[in-house]
Amino acid sequence: MVGFLLLMRHPLLLLACLCPLMAIAQNQPKKEKPLAPGGKWHANDPLRPRPRVVTPPTGQTPPSDATIIFDGKSLAGWKRDPRKSDPAGKDADAALWTVKDGYFECSPKSGSLRTRQKYAGDQQWHIEWATPVEVKGNGQGRGNSGVFIGGFPEIQVLDSYQNDTYPDGQAAGLYGFYPPMVNASRKPGEWQTYDIIVERQKRDSSGKVIKKARLTVIHNGIVVHLGREFDTAAQESDLQLQDHSNPVRYRNIWVRKLNLDDPDAEGTPPPANK
Ligand code: MG
Repeated sequence: MVGFLLLMRHPLLLLACLCPLMAIAQNQPKKEKPLAPGGKWHANDPLRPRPRVVTPPTGQTPPSDATIIFDGKSLAGWKRDPRKSDPAGKDADAALWTVKDGYFECSPKSGSLRTRQKYAGDQQWHIEWATPVEVKGNGQGRGNSGVFIGGFPEIQVLDSYQNDTYPDGQAAGLYGFYPPMVNASRKPGEWQTYDIIVERQKRDSSGKVIKKARLTVIHNGIVVHLGREFDTAAQESDLQLQDHSNPVRYRNIWVRKLNLDDPDAEGTPPPANK
């Protein structure tokens, strides 16, 4: 008790007693933290690559690492499937939809459009669309178009605002497979968004499927499909937009490649002082 009181009254004496203990503690081998999922890094590892910086989207400006599929001005990156009755020639597959004020609009019966490029791997797509302000028709005949990503069913585009139809054919339905979980449709003429996550089928080295292809769809910020599984083995595809004879509009289309298997591989080194 006397010793304790002495130490408390003389901080320097206390420090002299503690220093050897601290030195011993510092020389003890550090207990390694458990391995994080993936087995390459430990939990809280300061040497782990930093996630690369991406400027997020703002309004009509895509994120900084996106591939822009439609820039608001030109359909140069798009083509249509020529019909047998079309005249031959170098422009036989030219996209015939109308570009105006930053969007493009389906010219009814001019043919569906598809991108000239194909896009491989796991992806995040962003697509904005609007059905006509002037409401005509009903059911499948009102503002019908559609988004096709190879290997997956049509992601239906339709005016589903107070417009009844069969559920797996309404807006954001995976046509013929799944209705959306909810109807998140905006009014005719208002811009709507699809954010789509594509996960490709994965196989092991023996060729056995270890993960089915999956599709996630977010409609106007609302999750309507989460990880729907499909048997497709497609590893790449173009993007197709359907001509269903209705003047549906599209704008601000972009895609980002996702590295779901090893995002650390595209990270940046930690700061030098780490
Ligand atoms: Mg359709």
